[in-house]
Amino acid sequence: MKKTIVLVYVTSTPGEIHPAIYYLKEHARRTWKNVSFITRVYSQKKSASVIVKEITNEHPLLVGFSTYIWNAAKTLEITRELKKKQPGIPVVLGGPEASYNARRMLAERNDIDVIAVDEGENTFTELTGYYSYGKGNLADIRGIVFRKNGRITDTGPASLLDLNTVGSPFLSGYIPNIRRKTITYETSRGCPFKCAYCSYNTGSYARMRFFPLRRVLREISRILAGGPRKMNIVDDNFNINEPRAIKILGQVRRSVQKTVVTFFLRADIWKISEELAGLLAHRNIFCTIGVQSLNPTTLTIAQRINDRKNLDANLRLLNRHKVKFILQFIVGLPGDRYGDVRQMINWAFRYEPYGIHLQTLRINPQTVYEKRAEEYGITYKKVPPYTISQTRSMTAARLAKSQMLASHFEFIFNNRALRRRLIRIHLETHIPVTRIVEQSLKNGPLRD
Ligand code: SF4
Repeated sequence: MKKTIVLVYVTSTPGEIHPAIYYLKEHARRTWKNVSFITRVYSQKKSASVIVKEITNEHPLLVGFSTYIWNAAKTLEITRELKKKQPGIPVVLGGPEASYNARRMLAERNDIDVIAVDEGENTFTELTGYYSYGKGNLADIRGIVFRKNGRITDTGPASLLDLNTVGSPFLSGYIPNIRRKTITYETSRGCPFKCAYCSYNTGSYARMRFFPLRRVLREISRILAGGPRKMNIVDDNFNINEPRAIKILGQVRRSVQKTVVTFFLRADIWKISEELAGLLAHRNIFCTIGVQSLNPTTLTIAQRINDRKNLDANLRLLNRHKVKFILQFIVGLPGDRYGDVRQMINWAFRYEPYGIHLQTLRINPQTVYEKRAEEYGITYKKVPPYTISQTRSMTAARLAKSQMLASHFEFIFNNRALRRRLIRIHLETHIPVTRIVEQSLKNGPLRD
């Protein structure tokens, strides 16, 4: 009988295609041709016992789960149920949420056997060999934390994965039908920056690496020909290498039909060229620009580059080209006060962005803020979603007031009629946008 491994991803977004489990399958099946890798995507809403029944019906010799902040709770519900029903099946977790909390998770839960830390492709391939053919020892597989006979062992970081060696699940056909779906896609991995609230840049992700450009161009063409509803290109610093970004955008523009394509752009560090801005100006292309805060002290604490002149010049350029962009801020960064949240909104409003997002700070595991929470007077939830309740510069009451202002502003800004009314009142009265929003919070809906 063919050996079977089941790889599971739990989604919170209907129609989402997240490629992590397909990368694992594509990478491991090149080495282990006699193993059948079954990929399963489940909705958060599906009952854990039904999911477990479907998984065990495949008689797997191993079940792997890809965990993120948005699916960790449900994934752990499934692993608990799975171990209860089939204690003999090894359970392996990977993905950021398990990676960042590996030791603690294994210490607290006996329904997990192994956690693959950091990038999983090579590690998972080795784990497949160990569990399918008894090859080697767990202790010799780098990049895992595992429990054996009650003892937790960390085998240390795996060697850096060369992206040239990672197969493409998009080109091999392992990704299921993507028509009208939302697909997550990366053209690179890693980030050279060290923002204090971010845990992405840990382990091998502290090194910026690119997938080969020719492959990326082929993948984009293939994906867009499949007719997804949305393609989210999730590289955090898409324009870090502008000539490459221009080639990728050129391919997107040549291939796109109805799909909405999104990018993350840095506008605070590098100067955006006329050519790049011109390519971004397309009815289907949207970019998100992280500003996070406008307060120089806050940005210094957050270890963010603070070049407002460059940011202003880039946004003016994007405005001239009519590029659709969303400005993103974090509410509650250490150093920021209520007045800073007001300033973000009033400043952002001037650039007529397509959207303005104001998210409350989360203290993700393994971040600088987690390590220095006491120093900055941060109190926060120790479990997902890790949101803060106060900082030294923002009391709980001021944070709640800031969140109220942010969410009410977003509500108005995301509603076309309300947005038009807000703009009209602002232009006619010259009252700052935030004062208008605050008045509407007190007096009810916006009135002309
Ligand atoms: S927030 Fe973005 S730029 Fe900053 S470290 Fe994380 S991935 Fe890099």
